[in-house]
This record gives sequence, structure tokens and C-alpha cells, in this order.
Amino acid sequence: MEPTGAKPCKRGKDIMTSNDPAVFHKLYGPKKPRVIYYKRDFLDYTLMIALSALVLGLSYGPLHPAAIAGYVLCAFTLVMFVTRHGVELTIPLIVRRPQDLLYMFVYKLLNPRPMYFVALGVLLLENVLIAYTPNLPHRVDLMRKIGMILLFVHFFAITVYRTVILFHHLRKKELVREILGQTAWKRVVNEKTNVTVEIFHAYATGLLTHLVLLAPWFLVLRYAKFSLLFLPVVFALNVFVHVKWLLKYNQWFYRDHWLGHNSEIEFLYLHGTHHDAIPSALIAVAENGFLEGFLRYLTAFPVAFYNPIVAFLITTIDVKKDVEMHQYIPGIYPKIAMGMMESLQHSTHHYGSIEPYGVGVKIDRPGVSEAFKKAFARIPEGLKNSGKLDEELNGFKWDNPTHRLILTLFRKYHV
Ligand SMILES: [Zn+2]
Ligand SMILES: [Zn+2]
Repeated sequence: MEPTGAKPCKRGKDIMTSNDPAVFHKLYGPKKPRVIYYKRDFLDYTLMIALSALVLGLSYGPLHPAAIAGYVLCAFTLVMFVTRHGVELTIPLIVRRPQDLLYMFVYKLLNPRPMYFVALGVLLLENVLIAYTPNLPHRVDLMRKIGMILLFVHFFAITVYRTVILFHHLRKKELVREILGQTAWKRVVNEKTNVTVEIFHAYATGLLTHLVLLAPWFLVLRYAKFSLLFLPVVFALNVFVHVKWLLKYNQWFYRDHWLGHNSEIEFLYLHGTHHDAIPSALIAVAENGFLEGFLRYLTAFPVAFYNPIVAFLITTIDVKKDVEMHQYIPGIYPKIAMGMMESLQHSTHHYGSIEPYGVGVKIDRPGVSEAFKKAFARIPEGLKNSGKLDEELNGFKWDNPTHRLILTLFRKYHV
């Protein structure tokens, strides 16, 4: 499909702004579209869980409470895989096609936006300046302590919120069954299913994803230095860099997310866990699977490199918003506004459609009120109309049967 508004690449410069499907859909290995796990994935899933436990142990320390909590969650999700999908022993993909692992790292290295490198540069520069000015009162230890406190305050605050959401789901578990039974999720949630187990599985998915996601931030706090003296300047620089980074977020996300569904190794080891649990706020941690969050926060998201106060504020806003933007079972807390459900199609993606790959928002549509558009006036065009990138790159149709079904369910149950 010829993309509208496509611009020719200038010697590869800013290559990802060209909206060229050949660039966004580039694969070195075979294309294998995936949205769910099968029992034949058991050994790959087991290896992925073992790697997640290893990341937790090496990052937090093998006996750190965060690592131990993570091991328990790893064991729980592995048992859940066996219970929910079964076991079939086949040669793992990572053994059959080890080259796909190399390709995966190549994709990861080629995709980051320029502002990611600027954020890393600011952190390195701050550390060089601290090293060359040892007599200035940087209060590095105090900053590290504040950072660690903020990291765990963030985790506990979101976990309390997630736990409140858990109780709302448990209280209305028959409604969860009734609604999901009318959608593609009926293969998972039916009259014989233990819905309580599905709800706890979603909760554990969210908790484990969150612990793994925070590991890069923990490592930066442990090994990098932040200066109290430089705080005002670094704070302003971080905010500036983040605003600029957000302008290109949808293009980065489309490419990374497309790989998460079309490169089989990325689905099995990175993104698949985000789609293995019911489409609820319980699962959400800034749109990541277990290991996916760890890799993204190391190789593409600049947030872990920011001053701890900026990192705390942005991570908390990001994770809380993502939790609220994944409550696709209507009538259950935290309820998404109906106008948002009409304008956001990430729900369509969680109800069985592989598209949209991008953020999937479209405010510029017929029938949207000027007041609603005004509420998005300060949101960058690339985010508030991110759905247009999917329409250009893969022919995504905004008016589609899955979205219509979701809206029907929301109109019926969202009271
Ligand atoms: Zn996805
Ligand atoms: Zn999602």
C-alpha cells in the first residue's frame, strides 16, 4: 500500500519519519503474526520466565525482597501457563532459530529516537562533572537514597491501586465472565472457567511486569550518580528531552509493537505476556510484557536516565495512566470515559485484532465535538491522531466490527 504523506528518505536520515511500510515492517527472519500463546510454546515460555527471574536476581540482588517477590510471581505465572494452555514439548524457537535473537537486538538498536541518546548523554555528562568536581557539595548519597525511596514509593502506591482494582474485579467476577463471554475472550473465559483464577492471573501479570520494568531504574540509581547541586538544570533538561521524545513516541511504539507481534521470538519472550491475561487494568504497566519492559527501559525509554525526581513523576504518571487506559471490561472500576473508548482503539487490539500497532487514538473524526477536541489541544498531533499511522501503514479501518462490538458492550454495561 502506498502511504499517504510519505516523504522520501534523505540518505537514511530520520528514516522512521518516512512512514514507509518497508521500514516499519522490516524483518530479517520470517513473519509469524502472533496474538496468543499455545501449549507448544511451553518451553520457550519457561525459558522466558527463567530469564525474568535472572534479571530480577541480578538487578535487585538475589535475596532482595523485590527479587523474591518476583520469583514467587514467576512460579505462579508458569503454573498458570500449564493450567491455562497445557504442555507440549517441542524444540524451543530460541534453539531452532538462534539467529532470531541476534535480529531482535539489531531491531532494538535501530529503533530508538534521538532524544533517548540525548537523555543518556545528559546522565553521562552529569557523572563526568561530578567526578571532576569532588569538592562541590553534590550530596550524591542523599540523592541515591531519595531515588531509592521514590522508586519503592512508586511501586507500592501503584500496587495499592492495582489491589483496589483487584477487589473490584473479584466483587463483580460474574460480570467479568458475562462480558468477556460475548467477545473473543470466550475461548478463555466461559461457563466452566474459574474466573477468580483469571483475575488473579491478570493481577500477577501486572505485578511481575512492574517489578521487571523497574529493574533498569534501580540499576541506574545504584550505579550512576546524581547531584543535588545540578538538580534544577538537570530537571529542566530532562523535562525538555521528554517532551521532545514524546513527539516521536508513536512511531517508535508502532515499530517496536509491530515486532512484538510479527517476530515470533519477540512475541514469545517479550510482548506475549501482555496479551495472555484478560483485558483489564490489572495487567497494565506502560504497555509492556515481562522482559519487554526491562529491555525497553534500557534501550529505548529515556526515563530511567532522568534525575530520580523526574523519573518518579513520569513513571508514576505513565504507569497509572496505562492502568486506567486498559480497563476494557465495562462497568468495573476504574471506568474509562465513553468518549475515550470511542477515540481509543487499543481496546480493539486487546479483543483479538492484531491492529492497531500504534497508540491507536483518533480525535479528528466526524462527529467529535469541538469541546472534546479542545481537551486534547495540548497533546501532540502524533499522539492524539496516532491511529492515522496504522491507517497509512497497514490499512487499519477505524470503523471495524471489533470496535463496534466493544462500544455496544460499553453502552450496555458502562453504568
Ligand atoms: Zn500488543
Ligand atoms: Zn495493551
